[in-house]
Amino acid sequence: MEEDYGFETRAIREGIWRSDEQEHSEALLLTSSFRFQSAEEAAARFAGELPGNIYSRFTNPTVRTFNERLASLEGGEQGLGFASGMAAITATFMGLLSAGDHIVASNSLFGATTGLLNNVFARFGVAITFVDPEDSPAWTAAATEDTRMFFLETPSNPGMAVADIADLAERARAAGAWLVVDNCFCTPALQRPLDLGADLVIHSATKYLDGQGRCVGGAVVGPEALVGERIFPVLRSAGATMSPFNAWVFLKGLETLSLRMERHCDNAERLAEHLANRLGPDQVRFPGLPNHPRFELAKRQQSRFGGLLAFDLPRGREAAFAFINALAIPTITANLGDAKSTVTHPASTTHARVSQAERDAGGVTEGLVRISAGLEDVEDLVADVDRALAAIDLA
Ligand SMILES: *Cc1c(COP(=O)(O)O)cnc(C)c1O
Repeated sequence: MEEDYGFETRAIREGIWRSDEQEHSEALLLTSSFRFQSAEEAAARFAGELPGNIYSRFTNPTVRTFNERLASLEGGEQGLGFASGMAAITATFMGLLSAGDHIVASNSLFGATTGLLNNVFARFGVAITFVDPEDSPAWTAAATEDTRMFFLETPSNPGMAVADIADLAERARAAGAWLVVDNCFCTPALQRPLDLGADLVIHSATKYLDGQGRCVGGAVVGPEALVGERIFPVLRSAGATMSPFNAWVFLKGLETLSLRMERHCDNAERLAEHLANRLGPDQVRFPGLPNHPRFELAKRQQSRFGGLLAFDLPRGREAAFAFINALAIPTITANLGDAKSTVTHPASTTHARVSQAERDAGGVTEGLVRISAGLEDVEDLVADVDRALAAIDLA
């Protein structure tokens, strides 16, 4: 949009275009390809001499609206949708890294991201060093002359570690590396890594951008020189494309993102404070609790503390399973960022495929339970948690 409108206005209207039918809601263009007026026009489009749609693997107007809207919300030049968050991460690595390069990555990452680095990119000659996301000097110490990228999530999944984006952006630049931030937990409604100096932002749109647990998708946002010139060619050749239908669902999700995030944050804060009272503050990991080691940083870096919390139950896996099974409202599922509260035992699910050493480093203990606070009546959630604590004799 031409005017410098506020976040909510752009979340609802950025990137919109209308067909001759003058539909009010965003048009959903379910078409695999686009026709050309002549053979000459087809040739010019393929040569890149004429802008316009070609084929929905890499040009679809509904996906383009999503790309433009998310880029605007993150404050980046260009956005690019993918079939999943993991597809966005894979394409970013493929676009930016080559054999012989080195990456410094957080030791507290989504399990599939750790697996992608260890099991796939290592085979293609990319060296990886994992470090504590809260220990900024460790990132500088881990960098070598081959380091091309610092990669992290903040807050992290499921350890809720908070990394200092501005400090690590400076350290990445000093090391000649790009800083890539997975902003899944906060969304641009709460945190904008590009404003803090990061080079690229990654999303699993599956989570809060959808917000109602319907579609799988992902995205990367950043400068044209990286997204357009390095990552778009991977999408064009390798696929892993966001479907127009999913893009349309995500556009509907973005319209209510700010409102939803406010309530997710309210509910997570209430649950975190309640659990801190019941279990002791040291058992609860939530950036909004004053005993979180990065509480002051989280207050500065994020506008609110987010909708995720994790807590350690005494007696390990047995207590964690019993607690989860005793809950009536939160759904036992791997998803998060949904209107429905969800509960997960990371050590046996999302992080079951990473090594014990990596689980230890990321704080994924056997007693750790992660809750994604949904949009239900929070007093119902508090009562449910109390019932489940009573069931494991922690009443
Ligand atoms: C879910 C998730 C991903 C992967 O996204 P998919 O859409 O499931 O591929 C990446 N990072 C974080 C932090 C996630 O929670």
